[in-house]
Amino acid sequence: MFENLSDRLERSFKIIKGEGKITEINVAETLKDVRRALLDADVNYKVAKTFTDTVKQKALGMNVLTAVKPGQLMVKIVHDELATLMGGESVGLQLTNRPAIILMSGLQGSGKTTFSGKLANLLKGKQHKNPLLVACDVYRPAAIEQLKVVAQQVGVPVYSEPDNKNVVEIATNAIREAKAKGNDVVIVDTAGRLAVDEEMMDEIYRLKQALNPDETLFVVDSMTGQDAVNTAREFNDRLDIDGVVLTKLDGDTRGGAALSIRTVVTKPIKFVGTGEKMEAVDVFHPERMADRILGMGDIVSLVERAQEQFDEEEAKRLQKKIQKNKFDFNDFLKQIEQIKKMGNLKDLASMIPGVGKAIKDVDIDDNAFKGIEAIIKSMTPKERTNPEILNNSRRQRIAKGSGTNIQEVNKLIKQFDQTRKMMKMMTGSNMAKMAGMASK
Ligand code: GDP
Repeated sequence: MFENLSDRLERSFKIIKGEGKITEINVAETLKDVRRALLDADVNYKVAKTFTDTVKQKALGMNVLTAVKPGQLMVKIVHDELATLMGGESVGLQLTNRPAIILMSGLQGSGKTTFSGKLANLLKGKQHKNPLLVACDVYRPAAIEQLKVVAQQVGVPVYSEPDNKNVVEIATNAIREAKAKGNDVVIVDTAGRLAVDEEMMDEIYRLKQALNPDETLFVVDSMTGQDAVNTAREFNDRLDIDGVVLTKLDGDTRGGAALSIRTVVTKPIKFVGTGEKMEAVDVFHPERMADRILGMGDIVSLVERAQEQFDEEEAKRLQKKIQKNKFDFNDFLKQIEQIKKMGNLKDLASMIPGVGKAIKDVDIDDNAFKGIEAIIKSMTPKERTNPEILNNSRRQRIAKGSGTNIQEVNKLIKQFDQTRKMMKMMTGSNMAKMAGMASK
């Protein structure tokens, strides 16, 4: 995410890092570079200018005799201003009505349907809500089907009327159904077009008038840079949106949309999409995003994602097995599945401070576990629970069955043995302490 911008900013700071104190000259030089980096990241021209002007004022206004080195001071000011640029505080959803209504808007392909599923999943899991998804994209025949697929993945019902083209009627009926069935949130997925057109705007406007939603969200593909910002402005002018959802931040997005939208449209970014999977979504936190842009990692989001996947019952069960030295390959496989659910591996690793840059060119993808999974899945149930019976002929068979080779199988079994040994050493008081920490 924003790798190029991170690199460029870091290079800009090099100028001032070697200096003994802040001067007009070194500040100006550094900021010239910062501004160029922002423009290359497709940040709106005016936004970039105001940004560097503010940073300059703040830097020169600081007492030059402070103990802080100029380089550190500059990084801190840029960090804080980046966070301010993106909105400062994180702004959540305001869901007051029952059912609360969330209306999705945006162009075709921006990720509305995917995000509708992600949001339903988030609300269901974290806030224990009972959402209903509503299919109001009545033009593309595949749209209803796509929403159903997404809904099924997250275990949420869908309301649709395949033969009805009147979206206001569909949504109104859906709300009635939600009331009858006790759904406390209704998420309305709507039709987009390839570009802004009057008919689409009119339809979504009528929907908004009729439903009076708690939240009107505008979903936009962050890869489209300044176009994203312009489209956001058009939608906001017409719909008075409550928040922006930036999708596809996992691609090589340069960052322009994330950094300009808040200032240009004056509406907060509320969520970001970071992948195609239903779990690949984060609540937007300007501070944390600034941390990530400056290569400081985002350990808080990483821990939150881990917590979402953390199942206390499962952890207790596992703890018991470890204590009895019964941790087996089935448990191993389950752990891998949990990690995979947390999202793209490279993206996860980049949230760890200092790691993002270090692994920039390393190829870590979600296939990293493929070999391991194939090997474990080629084991018989008995072998998985009793790894000690894995003799040479069994290992040969597993290698063949998994399409790997004997070395890989041996390596995995060896690693597994070592893990088990380590776990055995940790059982007893240490383990109890760790479990206590995890449940806090
Ligand atoms: P809609 O037309 O606005 O409903 O957009 P879709 O939800 O159908 O999304 C269009 C495409 O973008 C699909 O292939 C999605 O899988 C993909 N997509 C959506 N959100 C993300 C995201 O955050 N990251 C990535 N990489 N792909 C996404």
